[in-house]
Amino acid sequence: MTASDNVHLHEINKFGSMAERWWDTQGEFKTLHDINPLRIKFIQDYANIIQKRIVDVGCGGGILSEGLAREGAVVLGIDLSEDLVDIADLHSLESGIGAEYRKISAEALANEEPEGFDHVVCMEMLEHVPKPGSIIQACAKLVKPGGMVFFSTLNRKPKAYLLAIVAAEHVLKMLPKGTHDYKTFIKPSELCQSARAAGLELQGMVGIEYNPFNRQFRLGKDIDVNYIAAFRRVD
Ligand code: SAH
Repeated sequence: MTASDNVHLHEINKFGSMAERWWDTQGEFKTLHDINPLRIKFIQDYANIIQKRIVDVGCGGGILSEGLAREGAVVLGIDLSEDLVDIADLHSLESGIGAEYRKISAEALANEEPEGFDHVVCMEMLEHVPKPGSIIQACAKLVKPGGMVFFSTLNRKPKAYLLAIVAAEHVLKMLPKGTHDYKTFIKPSELCQSARAAGLELQGMVGIEYNPFNRQFRLGKDIDVNYIAAFRRVD
């Protein structure tokens, strides 16, 4: 990996250092486990995924990749953390859910397999890279014309600072301290602008809302904190 790659090595090391605990549903990544059924439902609302080839960009230990594979998709998960790719592989062998994993960047895979996938998903990842626009472009290149690309990320709004960092990391301790850096959060308008420039047209966007009283997530209208969006590649 060279310095010119679109990656923060400290981010890769941070996530990689927690690799063995990725599948602990009560551990550091509980939030990803909790929101997984919601994001899979959102994806299925916009795309038929059965027997469709999907790439999961920044797949981590494979929570979303396996979830989609369980629903019938043919999934390739990619990440730059070797430890996470190994954990994802191992878990898929153990669970018998046949997702595949590779350590490769989105940009490199897009050069290798342009238009190689029916749909692309990239969740909770854009806020961890130096140039999110380059990942968005790579996702647009990876998907076939007419295919769907899904992103989720955190909104750069004071409310997101309060809830996603102060509350989630420090008060409720739902996420490890230092998981997120407010400066890197992305406004929906910025996501849509980069997506449009890459030939992706917005189809829908919803918030991933957290209710601290019953400790449950749900999809709703509030996109001020965490949100998920569906785009279609138009040509
Ligand atoms: N998408 C997964 C994991 C999110 S955590 C999920 O939502 O369940 C963020 C992930 O992005 C980590 O696994 C980290 O290793 C990965 N990541 C960070 N920078 C990356 C890059 N430049 N290329 C690929 N993956 C990256």
